Amino acid sequence: SRSSKQSGIFLPHLIASLGEIEQTYIMVKPDGVQRGLVGEIISRFEKKGFKLTGLKLFQCPKDLAEEHYKDLKAKPFFPKLIDYITSGPVVCMAWEGVGVVASARKLIGSTDPLQAEPGTIRGDLAVQTGRNVVHGSDSPENGKREIALWFNENEINQWTPAQAPWLRE
Ligand code: ADP
Repeated sequence: SRSSKQSGIFLPHLIASLGEIEQTYIMVKPDGVQRGLVGEIISRFEKKGFKLTGLKLFQCPKDLAEEHYKDLKAKPFFPKLIDYITSGPVVCMAWEGVGVVASARKLIGSTDPLQAEPGTIRGDLAVQTGRNVVHGSDSPENGKREIALWFNENEINQWTPAQAPWLRE
């Protein structure tokens, strides 16, 4: 029931030809929560212009951590990784936007924070791979998989940010 004038502003943001709208799962790991970096980390994605569609503080059970990192099961650091992720609450986020998966990985920086570029979250805020403060999905497929894993359907919210027409022409 929008007026045609409003549709003229909002419609372009709904046209898929502008680029594929992706979802990514971003998580502040327990060290980020303990170090008081939650606001700082959320802020990087918020300021960039992506859309937050899900957000919660959550104590991750062991079976969920193992499912999330199942591709790393054979790695020697796997048991320590599971202990780390389940050691305290994490902040789970779903973010949406054109190109959000690759862009979020760039904002996060390299897995090893000592190799991560200054200006990235890990480059600015962390010093060790085993305490690298944040997770981001590595593909659109994993973005969908991980959001479905960490969130219930009713925890994901669709909305149109007021700033949408000022982010994309
Ligand atoms: P990313 O999180 O950058 O996508 P990976 O998928 O390779 O990196 O690894 C997942 C997570 O496992 C890392 O973010 C880090 O917390 C942990 N990890 C990876 N490699 C190591 C390592 N060599 N030692 C300890 N922890 C590691």
